[in-house]
Formats: sequence, structure tokens, C-alpha cells
Amino acid sequence: MRASEFYSERFHEHRPVHTHLPRKARTPLRILKFGGTSVGDASSIEKVVAIIRAAAQESHVAVVVSAMSGVTNKLIEAATHSEAGDYKLASTILEELRKQHEAVASALIHSAMARNCIDRKIQQLFQEADALCQDTILLRESTLRARDSISSLGERLSAPLVAAALAARGGARQSVAPLEIVVPASCPGAAEPVMARTRERCNADVHPLLRQGIVPVLTGFIGATADGVVTTLGRNGSDYSATILGSALDADEVIIWSDVDGVLTVDPRLVSGVRRIPEISYREAAELAYFGAKVLHPKTLRPLIQSGIPIWIRNTFAPERPGTKITPTVSPNGGGVKALTAIADAALITVGGPGMLGVPDVLGRTFKTTAAVQANVLLSSQSSSQNDICLVVSSAVAERTVEALRREFAQDLVHEKAEHITLDPNVAIVALVGENMRGVSGILARTFGALDRDNLNIIAIAQGSSGCSISFVVARKDMKATLTTTHQELQLGAPYPQALPAASD
Ligand code: ADP
Ligand code: ASP
Ligand code: MG
Repeated sequence: MRASEFYSERFHEHRPVHTHLPRKARTPLRILKFGGTSVGDASSIEKVVAIIRAAAQESHVAVVVSAMSGVTNKLIEAATHSEAGDYKLASTILEELRKQHEAVASALIHSAMARNCIDRKIQQLFQEADALCQDTILLRESTLRARDSISSLGERLSAPLVAAALAARGGARQSVAPLEIVVPASCPGAAEPVMARTRERCNADVHPLLRQGIVPVLTGFIGATADGVVTTLGRNGSDYSATILGSALDADEVIIWSDVDGVLTVDPRLVSGVRRIPEISYREAAELAYFGAKVLHPKTLRPLIQSGIPIWIRNTFAPERPGTKITPTVSPNGGGVKALTAIADAALITVGGPGMLGVPDVLGRTFKTTAAVQANVLLSSQSSSQNDICLVVSSAVAERTVEALRREFAQDLVHEKAEHITLDPNVAIVALVGENMRGVSGILARTFGALDRDNLNIIAIAQGSSGCSISFVVARKDMKATLTTTHQELQLGAPYPQALPAASD
């Protein structure tokens, strides 16, 4: 496949060439990130290799890979069995995973020497996994650090596989650079990068490879403290790795290769008749990701804000299609809502009722309590009398948040018989996202009218002050129907409107 088949001249419009390379070698640098489905089996990895090779004809390329799809889940399952003391179940999972990786290696790599090398690597990583599970069984609990070490093995396996497949088809100019993003010490679970240190490490370990025309294949998802303790960036975090590295390496573009044609008007698994959005702003993409659109990790845009590096979402399985371009700003399309998204596993907590009248500082105490139990409030709304607040949190933290709130207000409500802090565990958040929604009248009226017509009830509503999203709470059983009705009513599946000329005043 030739580069020009799927890299258009648009690429060359952007940003100066890569600043850390000597001027004569200043070829643009692209970060190509491949998700779990893109590296999910041997035939998908073949497609990945073709994409990397084509890109490497045009620019410097650094590759970031996820674990093969499903592998991180299975590794976490093995860790959970180990915590329960069940070595047999844990080792069965590891054995299946080992066979899966060996089968992919044997389908992709034919030279005896290269095969031997990758087999040894696979064997070494599974010995490490086994030792981690055995340690966990001995302790009968796994520390977050041990869990991170086990769950990060998926990327440590897929990166050498992809690099070996690439080397097998493109000569010896590829290498695996097991570069971990530098994170603060003692920060397991969902660590944040220390950009200055990550940049130093990129300068030391990655730039020299790029200068030699080598394609480094880097592990997504993984971080490590400066002294080498492994951690992860949180589930689905390889997108975040790609943009952290894009920023640290001063890349010209980050391209996230996935199994969809780009950012779509809604998750195609939930609604039919969806459409690709050609261009979307950082803010819109961040808002979509925050409200559950799995196509991007919620923090993906953060590292790019200062530099404004463009990011693309493209389809590994249809690389000739243009994808979605995400840039700091986009021209207004006049359409208002661009996309819908939903968080299915949410719970609604209500703090209120007449019994709360006269209770001092309900709002302040409520949010202090949610912060104390580390419950991220996804949406909140409050009645004007200040004694009726509703909060939506993820299902995982709902019970502990309600318990903490009941403790907080126990003394105030000691003589009250009625329940004033209630939990509905079966709700979902649906969000409408679009940068210029505020300027378009009637969006809510149309949406609510259509939902009412289809007997879909809205429990609570909130509008972000940025005007970039409107979110509402519905019963979980109504989530899909709410998305379908709204998508239809707002005609999001219709051909994309032409950009409007800038308004003249
Ligand atoms: P990867 O393995 O490449 O990281 P993910 O499964 O994490 O891929 O994300 C891609 C999935 O995100 C798609 O298959 C799609 O079902 C889902 N998705 C949710 N919302 C959207 C959206 N608005 N546009 C595109 N995909 C979406
Ligand atoms: N492999 C990790 C996960 O499944 C990271 C990723 O795929 O982005 O969460
Ligand atoms: Mg993903």
C-alpha cells in the first residue's frame, strides 16, 4: 500500500517540522497509536504494519500500541484469582494468553532467528506474570502496584510482536523502545505524567532512534516512576500515552488508529444510521470523551492543549477513509449539536426534601463529602431553595458516596423519619455535545418534544457553562431509545452541513 493512498496533502499544512532534529533531517514526525482491536490478531497486525510502513515513507514515525484486545481484562482477571488464592484459575488464564501470543508470533514471523527471539521474550514476560501471581497468592492481596505490573504486561507483549512483524516486512530499521511515561513516585492506578521528565527520557531514548530513521514501537498505557516502579495511566489509557508522547516528542500529528471511521455522531454499537464527523474541536472531543465516548480516553486532549498539535481518529481496517481531524478550534457548522454520547453505569443520589430545610450549608458539605470519598460527580443540579440537590456518580462509587453523605448529615436529621438521602442505581447520563449549541435555539425544545412523544422521561438536566454540552439523566433502560430518538430528531445522521461563512457584523 502506498503512503499517498491514505495520507493526504492536508498533513503538510500543519506545524513546523520537528524541532529536536538537526535541520537537514527535519522531516515531520507522526505518532501512530494502534488500539486493541487494531493489534487484536495476526491479520490485523498485518494491516497495522502496512500503515506504519506507508507512513514511514513520508515522515518520521513513532508507534504506540495497546495490548491485543481483551488481554488487559484477562490479566486483571488473573490478578483477581490470585488475590482469592486460586493459582489454578490464574495460571489457566496466563497459559491461554501465552498460547494466543505465540500463535500470533508464529503467523507473523517466519525467520527462525526472529521467531526464537520473540518466543524468548514472550516466555520471559509470562514467567514474570506467573511470579507476580504467585507473590499475590502468598500475600492473599494484590497491591495496586502489583495489579499495575500484571495489567501492563499486555502492552509489553504486543509492542515486541508489532516491532518484530514490522522488522520481518521492512528490514531492520525498527526497534522496540520500552519507554515508559515518567510519573510521580507512589502514584499507582491512574498516574499522571511528569512532562519534563518524560521529555528528558524521550530526548535520551527516542530522538536518537528517530534521527537514525528507526521506527520505535512504544508501549502505551504504561508509566513508571523515575526509579522504575511500573504503573499505568488507567483503563483505555493508551490514547493518553500517544498524546503525552506526541507532546514530549514535539510531534506534528498524532493519529489514533481504531476500528471506527472516526468520531461518529454517536456510538455505532448503540444507534444505527450514524455518521462520521469530519472535524471536531479539542473541547468537543474532550466533552464527548468525558461523557463516555470510548473512542478517546477522557484525558487524551490535555497534553496537546499548549501545542495545538492536530490529532486524527482513523480506521485501521479502512485506511483509505479520511477519518476525523481534531484541532483546537473548528469553523462553526451552524448545526448546534454535533454528537451524542452516554454513560450507562451511573447512579443518581438525591440529597433533599423538606427535612433538609434549615440544615446549614447543604451544598458545601455535600461536595466536600463526595471529594473525601473520591467520588467524581459527573453531573449535578440543584433546586433554587438549596435544599434539593441531585448528583450523578459512577455506579462503582455510588454506595460509598451515599453512606458517606448519610454519615455527614446524620446529626442534622436525627429526628427525621423520612429518608432524605436516596439512591437510584439504575440511571444513565445522555449528553448532547457541540461547540456552538448556545447560539442555536430550539435544541432542547425539539429534543424534549421528541422524547415526550416516545414516552421517554427525563429525570434531571444540566447544562455546562461552557455551552459545549447539555446532559440529562434518564432511566438506564431508556438510554438506547433516548439516544436513538434524539439522534433522529436532531437529524445527526443526515449528510454533514457545509461550513457556514463567518458571520459579518
Ligand atoms: P481501541 O481498541 O482502538 O482503543 P476502543 O474500543 O477503545 O478502541 O474505542 C473504539 C470504540 O469506541 C468504537 O468501536 C465505538 O464502539 C466506540 N465509540 C463510542 N462512541 C463513539 C463515537 N462517538 N465515535 C466513534 N466511536 C465511538
Ligand atoms: N490495554 C489497556 C486497556 O485495555 C489500555 C488501552 O487499551 O488503551 O485498558
Ligand atoms: Mg481505546
